[in-house]
Amino acid sequence: MSQRPVPVGPDGVNPGRARQAVRSLYAHPVLTAADLTAPLLVVPDGQLCLPGAATLDHVPALVDRWARLGIRGLKLFVRGHGRDAHGSGATAPGNRMIRAIRTVKGTAPDMAVTTEVCGCSWTDHGQCVLRTADGTIDLDATYRLMSAMAVQHAEAGADVASPTAMLDGSIHAVRAALDGSGFRDVGVNPNIALHTGLYGPFKELMGTNPQCGHRRGLQLEPGRADRDALIQARRWIAEGADSLTLQPVMTAVDVLVRLRAEQQVPLTAYSTSGEWDALCALGVEGMVEYHSMLKRAGADVILTFAAEKIAARLEVSRG
Ligand SMILES: [Zn+2]
Repeated sequence: MSQRPVPVGPDGVNPGRARQAVRSLYAHPVLTAADLTAPLLVVPDGQLCLPGAATLDHVPALVDRWARLGIRGLKLFVRGHGRDAHGSGATAPGNRMIRAIRTVKGTAPDMAVTTEVCGCSWTDHGQCVLRTADGTIDLDATYRLMSAMAVQHAEAGADVASPTAMLDGSIHAVRAALDGSGFRDVGVNPNIALHTGLYGPFKELMGTNPQCGHRRGLQLEPGRADRDALIQARRWIAEGADSLTLQPVMTAVDVLVRLRAEQQVPLTAYSTSGEWDALCALGVEGMVEYHSMLKRAGADVILTFAAEKIAARLEVSRG
């Protein structure tokens, strides 16, 4: 039996796609500014080596620019202050995070604000977790710290708390604390983080490099991440997560595809700080193509240092 030939027009073009009107009918834009969220890194001084890094007084202008470009969400990180072994500054009234949340919401009330909930910006040892005198992780103290941070962020106006240390039990603790404080409508978006060299510029800028050791025990091993990410996602959702963030996405697109196939919750793909130089080498057209691919691969939202550049480019091409 002979195969039915594929219809091809006289100039070798599939007739169903040849006409501009038909191509336009099918070719919906892969990427829009609404797919992008931006990291906002609030720092005390002028070390602004990454896009989205700003001192508090520059936050309104930056957030206003993002909102005008159609960016609808940001993730807020701050460089901590008053750091000690207990991360006390993280829950000090009116700390930099609280002021930043209020500033963003005061500037752009509709901007979805996700906040980093973690010890590493606030401990003097730069670790995400608190430790007992003998060096083991103090689970209860860490849960209490993360829970108190999440509630304070919610009180200041945050929409989603993002516990970033991958500590079993912490998502349940944060969810319960938010519920118990009347913030049932505040989301919890934990990390699925692979061990990588692609966190470097962020850790340098925010002072979150552990002073000794590393946090590899709290991250997925890349060689097993295709399977471990699925296990972790199930665990986080069982603990109360309503959305997830995968990072760094550039070296884990396969993991993103697998997560998408298994999970229905919103997935944020985080293009981390170490990807920035590579993205710059691609140029803005390459950035658009890369982020379009992440959306095709299953990301609902892409958290990226390239958000403003891409949104500006998309606005120009929309005309
Ligand atoms: Zn951390």
